[in-house]
Amino acid sequence: MTQLIYDLTLEEIANLLKDWKEPAYRAKQIWQGVYQHLYESPDEFSNLPISLRKKLAEEFTFTPFQVRTYLDSADGFTRKTLFELPDGNLIEAVLMRYGDPADNPQIKTAAPYSKNLRGARKRRTLCISTQAGCAMGCVFCATGQMGFKRHLSSGEIIAQVLYYARILKEANELVTNIVLMGMGEPFHNYDNTMTAIDRLNDQDGFNFGARRFTISTVGLVPQIRRFADEKRQVNLAISLHAADDDERLAIMPVNKRYKIEDIIEACKYYVEQTGRRVTFEWALINGVNDTPQVAKKLASRLKGLLCHVNAIPLNPTAGYAGRATNHERAILFKESLEQAGIPCTIRMRRGIDIQAGCGQLAGGSLSA
Ligand code: SAH
Ligand code: SF4
Repeated sequence: MTQLIYDLTLEEIANLLKDWKEPAYRAKQIWQGVYQHLYESPDEFSNLPISLRKKLAEEFTFTPFQVRTYLDSADGFTRKTLFELPDGNLIEAVLMRYGDPADNPQIKTAAPYSKNLRGARKRRTLCISTQAGCAMGCVFCATGQMGFKRHLSSGEIIAQVLYYARILKEANELVTNIVLMGMGEPFHNYDNTMTAIDRLNDQDGFNFGARRFTISTVGLVPQIRRFADEKRQVNLAISLHAADDDERLAIMPVNKRYKIEDIIEACKYYVEQTGRRVTFEWALINGVNDTPQVAKKLASRLKGLLCHVNAIPLNPTAGYAGRATNHERAILFKESLEQAGIPCTIRMRRGIDIQAGCGQLAGGSLSA
């Protein structure tokens, strides 16, 4: 069995090379080839002797999945790719382009964030998966409707990023943000997710700043606390979607285990530990969680917490009868929250025409 090269640390590669009786500096060359030059085949390592390239090809996999299909949104700004893993499982990852002149002027462009991105005005956000399927069963979610298949390895998470980074590189562009909001619950696959982030963060490699990642979780309390203790600079988003335990339980089975109050307490702890603001995700479902009354209740629960609410109209899915809120109701919800002192952003739905909602493409394909 060959190993996926992105599953290895630099040290592990160095140890292998030692076994192969190669000079130590070769490990760094391989690392830089993979994470800086974005080579995806041993043939591209022109600085390595042919014999070593051959060995790399024998021992390692560079492409852990096949592209099963991809879809571009009608406006051309969003691409969603469905990958097939060797065991037949499907995962998806989305590229969202923001900040182009023709794009929606309401969307702010990102500030340059690091030396090697100085001057970059365009936001290039990747939404990647951490699991095939998901065990959490949120009723409105296409991935939840599909059930849990398996965890992704750190290398399989990384490979999604490198896939798009290569596409962007051809257009002389860079990935600027990575959100772990594709298929799966990142905190259910905690170690592999953090390992992937750390590896992409490596300054001698992909050098992607921790603050440019956002993890979204369904609200697994012990993991939120662990994340807080680790004092990571990664942004944290919590999928709340309801201000009342019974209402949350009706759409999110995980609420049986972790109550809203426990989640908010864990978020308070996170803010204390890190000084960072928490984001609450809110899928606006018509008549279910989009009323001013719900907004007021939510505001009273979040009072005093350094946070803001990211609301997005529900993306309708085959397995759930709920409908998206309309524009007027969304604005009213936002205003009610803000009047009560909680900042709120209404996010644009992106790539709706390409089923870019979480798990929608893989779910559709599985049932086809
Ligand atoms: N499992 C994690 C991350 C993946 S889901 C989590 O739940 O947070 C990413 C976001 O998409 C979450 O906020 C989730 O609640 C939301 N989401 C899932 N299905 C959706 C839908 N049909 N419409 C709108 N948002 C949805
Ligand atoms: Fe899983 Fe997140 Fe979908 Fe819930 S919303 S089923 S946690 S992927």
